[in-house]
Amino acid sequence: MQRIHSQEDFQEAQRFIPGGVNSPVRAFKSVGGTPVFIKEGKGAYLYDVDGNRYVDYVQSWGPLIFGHRDETIENAVIDAVKHGLSFGAPTEAETELAKDVVELFESIEKIRFVSSGTEAVMSAIRLARGFTGRDDIVKFEGCYHGHSDSLLVSAGSGAATFGTPSSPGVPADFTKHTLLAKYNDIESVKKCFADSDNIACVIIEPIAGNMGLVPAEKEFLKELRELCDANGALLIFDEVMSGFRATLRGAETITGVTPDIVTLGKVIGGGMPVGAFGGRAEIMNMLSPEGPVYQAGTLSGNPVAMAAGNAAISKLKQNSRVIDVLEKRAQRLMEGMSEAASKHGIPCQTTVRGSMFGFFFNENPVKNFDDAAKSDAELFAKFHTAMLEEGYYFACSLYETGFISTAITDQIIEDTIAAFEKVFGVLSGK
Ligand SMILES: *Cc1c(COP(=O)(O)O)cnc(C)c1O
Repeated sequence: MQRIHSQEDFQEAQRFIPGGVNSPVRAFKSVGGTPVFIKEGKGAYLYDVDGNRYVDYVQSWGPLIFGHRDETIENAVIDAVKHGLSFGAPTEAETELAKDVVELFESIEKIRFVSSGTEAVMSAIRLARGFTGRDDIVKFEGCYHGHSDSLLVSAGSGAATFGTPSSPGVPADFTKHTLLAKYNDIESVKKCFADSDNIACVIIEPIAGNMGLVPAEKEFLKELRELCDANGALLIFDEVMSGFRATLRGAETITGVTPDIVTLGKVIGGGMPVGAFGGRAEIMNMLSPEGPVYQAGTLSGNPVAMAAGNAAISKLKQNSRVIDVLEKRAQRLMEGMSEAASKHGIPCQTTVRGSMFGFFFNENPVKNFDDAAKSDAELFAKFHTAMLEEGYYFACSLYETGFISTAITDQIIEDTIAAFEKVFGVLSGK
């Protein structure tokens, strides 16, 4: 497969954009080679600037649950564009999307829209601090909550891939209020509460997708809820990735644990830049202008972004079995991968939650970031390169999650499994 134009484009981009990309994980650093420059997407496929076609299991890192150029979403956006790109004044589309989310998530009575997941989480943390009058927060190793200062502590995703647990430019004075705990390890959370009586909130990805796919255990979440209640701290579920992906009505419906605040992003914007945070009215009413906690945005609730979000979420609501169908495909994909791997003597751990799937080349089950980090990174890099050659676009880091869209058919899944077979055969030398 020739990628000459991508190589040229990448050279050119690096002259003007740091690392040639506008978000680090896109640079293919951890798998080597050149990032693929995309010309267009259609349904299940990406087309690059050299005319190659790939089955897309990245889906813009999560948002595109209906695949590329879904007709309903595309038409909604075109229609919105014709009425104006931005007003900086309220529109009915915002209330429409708010209503839908409030209906779906039992824990959400009120919601506010922003323009990215980072912004949603940053604002949710400020709200939790304002509501409780406390400063400290607890986060988990391997969970990623966007790139705001106080959350860039042992972050997963891009940061973990590069082996930088935190970033220069973040003052230690900011992160001293961030306590780190271990995922699925309640003792480590108890230790945080023993160390500080000033904890405003615990933030967690209830279905972690930024250290590979690592769901939290039910019992762990239940105990987390109890610890928060006993100590007067809020529990925040960061569902920027898992929201509308793992299940339609939030992780609360599959874990049985109700959070105080939920953050959303990715799917809620249907491919446009949207983030959101919501919770009980009592908490949300602390936000300006109703309350004293300041939060704002020139493009927040942007009409074009809301149109895409409304189209995506109402389509999901109308087809409430969509995620179950995608889950079956994800299960089949991971089952096929496990079988192919074991046939060729490659240790492989797989997980599925709704339309999210994850795999680790690892001898042992993965329950936290330390476990994930013991996976075979070299093998992953080779796997990624080989699958790309076969025309399959997977996330270019072992710490990411894969996504099924409705455009990925059963036949595409079977073809992908055949490609796994072939690639594992080559990688194992058999
Ligand atoms: C992607 C992600 C974010 C950050 O969202 P951006 O839109 O990239 O700023 C935050 N939390 C989780 C769990 C995410 O997956």
